[in-house]
Amino acid sequence: MNSSLVIKDLCISIGDRPIVKSLNLEVPKGEVHAIMGLNGSGKSTLAKAIAGHPDYNITSGSVLLDRVEILGMEADERSRKGLFLAFQYPNEVPGVSNANFIRAALQSRLGEGEELEAVAFYERLYEKMDLLEIRREFTARSVNEGFSGGEKKRNEILQMAMLEPSYAVLDETDSGLDIDALKIVATGVNTLRGPNLGVLLITHYQRLLNYIVPDHVHVMMDGRIVKSGGKELALELDERGYDWVKAEEAALA
Ligand code: ADP
Ligand code: MG
Repeated sequence: MNSSLVIKDLCISIGDRPIVKSLNLEVPKGEVHAIMGLNGSGKSTLAKAIAGHPDYNITSGSVLLDRVEILGMEADERSRKGLFLAFQYPNEVPGVSNANFIRAALQSRLGEGEELEAVAFYERLYEKMDLLEIRREFTARSVNEGFSGGEKKRNEILQMAMLEPSYAVLDETDSGLDIDALKIVATGVNTLRGPNLGVLLITHYQRLLNYIVPDHVHVMMDGRIVKSGGKELALELDERGYDWVKAEEAALA
C-alpha cells in the first residue's frame, strides 16, 4: 500500500542478543494499530529501532514510510519524514524550554530562509496545551524536568500535536497515568486521529484501548507478532491473559 508504515522481516539485536525476530506489520495511514504484549517481549525495542535509536542493531529487514526506506536515516531525518515516537520513559532536557524545543523542531522542518511565525506558533501551542490540560507555565519550563509521570506523557502528546506526524508510535503512553490523565491523553490522541495519521499504539494493558479504540490489535511475544485481530482481541487478552495465545502458538508450531 502506498500510504503506510510497513515493517518487513525486521530483526533487531541488542549487543549479540536477538530481541525482535522477523517481525512483519503494516499500519496504513488513517488506522490505529495496537501492539499488546507482556513486559520484555520487545515492544520498546521495536519502537526505538523504528525511530532510529543508535543502541539497537537492525540485523535485517526494512521499515518503509510511504514506500521510502528509513532504516539508513538518522533519527531527525526520520522525524522530518513524518515519523513520531512518544517514549515510554521520556527524557528530561534541562536548560531547553518546552516552547523552544517544539519551536526548534518545527523550524527544522522549514526550508532555508523560512522563519516560523511566532504569534501563530504560540496561538497553536496554547490551543494544544488547552486540549491536553497543560498549564501555561509549562511553556517556559525545561523539557520534562521535574515533570510528574503523567505530565511527561501529556507533554509527549503535545509534541505530537504540534509536529503533526504522518505516523506516530506511542510506547506505553498509558503507563503511570491515573484515570483522569489517561482520559486527557486519549482525548488528545483521538483529536489527532484521522485520514492523515497512522498510529502504532503500544501497550501492556487493555485499559487504554477503552479510550483509544484501535482498528487492529496485534499480540507480541518473544520478539514476534503471534496473533492479530480486531479490537475485541484486547478484551479477550484482558480476560484470559496471554497464556492461551502462547498455547495456541505452540500447537501451531
Ligand atoms: P517491552 O517494551 O516489551 O517490555 P523491551 O523491548 O523493553 O520489552 O525489552 C526486550 C528485551 O530486551 C528485554 O529482555 C530487555 O531486558 C532487553 N533490553 C531492552 N533494552 C535493552 C538495553 N538497552 N540493553 C540491554 N538489554 C535491553
Ligand atoms: Mg516497553
